Amino acid sequence: MKILLSNDDGILARGLGVLERACESLGELYVVAPDREQSATSHSLTLHHPLRPVRLGERRWQVDGTPTDSVLLGIQVLMPEKPDFVISGINHGPNMGEDVLYSGTVAAAMEGLALGVPSIAVSFAGSVLRADALLDSHVGMLRTLLEHLTSLPAFPADTLLNVNLPAVEASQIKGVKLTRLGRRVFSDSITPMKDPWGREIFWIGGGSVEWSGPDDSDFATVADGYVSVTPLHLDLTHRDQLDASADWWRAL
Ligand SMILES: [Mg+2]
Repeated sequence: MKILLSNDDGILARGLGVLERACESLGELYVVAPDREQSATSHSLTLHHPLRPVRLGERRWQVDGTPTDSVLLGIQVLMPEKPDFVISGINHGPNMGEDVLYSGTVAAAMEGLALGVPSIAVSFAGSVLRADALLDSHVGMLRTLLEHLTSLPAFPADTLLNVNLPAVEASQIKGVKLTRLGRRVFSDSITPMKDPWGREIFWIGGGSVEWSGPDDSDFATVADGYVSVTPLHLDLTHRDQLDASADWWRAL
């Protein structure tokens, strides 16, 4: 099995190293990842300057672009053949609820899916500091989970699996649950500051994160100490609204 690994925290990120260790027994690993942090770049593609991948090893490249660029180049140009899986992560921070729409980690998996490759995104659902302290303990558990997911008799079509790991030592994880996206609310997430010349600037990020969602939501599941696995697809169509809006055009 050939597996393409990528991330949005950059090729030097600890989470990518932990993912590589967890995946090394699964098959032949190729790593194509951004040369620097690209968190919250979502599914952006670099159109206005060329990309120059730098080969760091036999099956390892850094790309001066986004996670989407990296997966696109990996699959279309750098790998000798299409991979069997794209696995993205481990992100240093959660990707649950609406954050899947901002996430470069999830977008890397989306790009894999858009190119017809079954894909998995993995995120550590705690702070960056907790990730630094705890990620190494997750290697064995993550290996077991990814071995299971990549050998499912029928990996779901047109679907990516969004995995969030609870921010506890791996030995304290209670199990794995299938979940749905919850809702998250950032408060105080724009901090006004002064630049060195006294001009007003704004730093987006930080603040406190609150969430809501049913017991089977990603947020509730991770808060309860379980690994959350949410199946996502790329079709954002609001199906219930299609029916509810059936008479919109009757008067036309
Ligand atoms: Mg990130």
